[in-house]
Amino acid sequence: MKTKTVKIGSTLIGGSHFAVFAGPCSIESEKQAFETAEFVKSKGACVIRGGVYKLRTSPNSFQGLGEKAFSIVKKIRSELNIPFVTEVTDPRQIPDLAGVVDAFQVGSRNMHNYELLKELGQTKTPIILKRGFCATVEEWLKAADYLVQGGNEDIIFCERGIRSFETVTRNTFDINAIVYIKQRTEFPIIADPSHGTGISDFVTPVTLAAASAGADGVMVEVHPEPNKALSDGFQALDFENFDQMMTQLKNVLSVFNKKLESV
Ligand code: PEP
Ligand code: MN
Repeated sequence: MKTKTVKIGSTLIGGSHFAVFAGPCSIESEKQAFETAEFVKSKGACVIRGGVYKLRTSPNSFQGLGEKAFSIVKKIRSELNIPFVTEVTDPRQIPDLAGVVDAFQVGSRNMHNYELLKELGQTKTPIILKRGFCATVEEWLKAADYLVQGGNEDIIFCERGIRSFETVTRNTFDINAIVYIKQRTEFPIIADPSHGTGISDFVTPVTLAAASAGADGVMVEVHPEPNKALSDGFQALDFENFDQMMTQLKNVLSVFNKKLESV
């Protein structure tokens, strides 16, 4: 089926180009987030990601800077002239966050939060809808129907791995889902190999696999010093790894006559 395009800021997702979303799991400080955004943009990322509100398994883990990160996001967007996406974890955040970011991410833990989806359906902000880690593709598509029925059709699916009997990786990345969404729906889909594998060394090979399977883009976590990250450091690429990934990605895309989307 022909894929519709979704605009995040001035960046087109789902067109003839491949989009790289990159940035830290969490915004930890202005220096960490800005330096990461500047670096990934210089290497070809066209959307910056960064967690403001974090849904952590343990209440004792870093919960994100919350509103304190708003000024950092605004600085990145205005000084680097690049769109920004962050996760919305609660409907009460929508009015304030809508003025700060270019797209909302619905996280894996919230794919089944239908009241959140109904509220997001009322907005005009594009949505990156992550797959619930125990959700079938059909359940994921029905979650998207909540957004569509509310009036928001600017949806980008994001495959981020599912829980399976396998434990050597954090999740099992479902490459079939990329092919399914591309062939059977009109929505663009990106891959998140960072959460899909949970291992930084696996991020590049799974990115290349997703690009080869027809994904419209990837979202990867990058940190200047992954071993010091306040969340998900074990799966973050450092700057050198990201640079290498982008070189390999461009080679793979050229096989499919595809280029990177730019800002
Ligand atoms: C994230 O993108 O940092 C995140 C929490 O992802 P997920 O919802 O896929 O676990
Ligand atoms: Mn993360």
